Amino acid sequence: MRIDLHTHSNASDGTDDPSDLPHLAREAGLHVIGLTDHDTVAGWSRAQAQVCTAGVALVRGMEMTAYMPADPARHPLGKTRISVHMLAYLFDPHHPLMCAHIDHMVRVRSERAREIVDRLAKDYPIRWSDVQAKVKGNAPIGRPHIADALVELGIVPDRTSAFRSILRSSSPYYVPSSSPLAMEVVEWVNAAGGKAVLAHPKARARANFLCDRDIEKITEAGLFGIEIAHRDNPVELRGQLADLAERLQLRQFGSSDYHGTGKPNALGENTSDSQVYHDLLKGVFLPVIKP
Ligand code: AMP
Ligand code: FE
Ligand code: FE
Ligand code: ZN
Repeated sequence: MRIDLHTHSNASDGTDDPSDLPHLAREAGLHVIGLTDHDTVAGWSRAQAQVCTAGVALVRGMEMTAYMPADPARHPLGKTRISVHMLAYLFDPHHPLMCAHIDHMVRVRSERAREIVDRLAKDYPIRWSDVQAKVKGNAPIGRPHIADALVELGIVPDRTSAFRSILRSSSPYYVPSSSPLAMEVVEWVNAAGGKAVLAHPKARARANFLCDRDIEKITEAGLFGIEIAHRDNPVELRGQLADLAERLQLRQFGSSDYHGTGKPNALGENTSDSQVYHDLLKGVFLPVIKP
């Protein structure tokens, strides 16, 4: 079985409609796909409606924005927060703690994006309406939407170059988004009957990746698993990361983090074992949707 449990649609910052994802997964030779849009479950029903025609099982999930306090000794640049992405699977989407997170993040993401656009507008001909035009419905707004507006205005050639230049986290235009503590988020996912998996913990692009002690603290809050095979985890660190996972008894996941045409990540470029997948399904609130 080929299983890819971390993908995005245009319900957040991917470029594909959620109803296309099961079909694209099928073309990529996958049997199970996880839809994990950032801080929203709005894409679930459209993806779900295509499970039978595509013949690909759907795991409903969400990638939650969170943070860990940074140890100042390790972060001489004065960063106080490390950005953390937490995958939440098969939880009750009506649970008040999860609903509160979704509502909160839509609001703060929008305020933060506005602030970034205000800063950019001092030097570039960009307006808030240019960014709004790139967002589907009331999807949570992120830098990818600002990047798309910058591309359309001819300021940068593509998303990736926007992230490498004016939208990078060390840019003067950058504003961090205010998000909950990683340990809290893990507790909410468990309270809502789901399972929490730490996404790309050694993503170097964030220039602020998590140390072993951080991962231990998050684990103590009730973490189920951790992504190891992910293109943002440097290959030379994956052995150590797997040893840590073994010691902390965390399940080891592999996934693509597919975003459509906005990022080079290809569906199924990394996958999870079927044993890990079957363990994920045990005792959770929502079932996997099978063809
Ligand atoms: P934000 O959460 O608003 O700070 O924006 C970061 C998000 O942009 C992450 O979830 C990335 O997955 C996403 N992203 C989409 N396309 C790209 C790209 N080409 N380069 C870097 N990040 C990207
Ligand atoms: Fe993303
Ligand atoms: Fe992520
Ligand atoms: Zn992701």
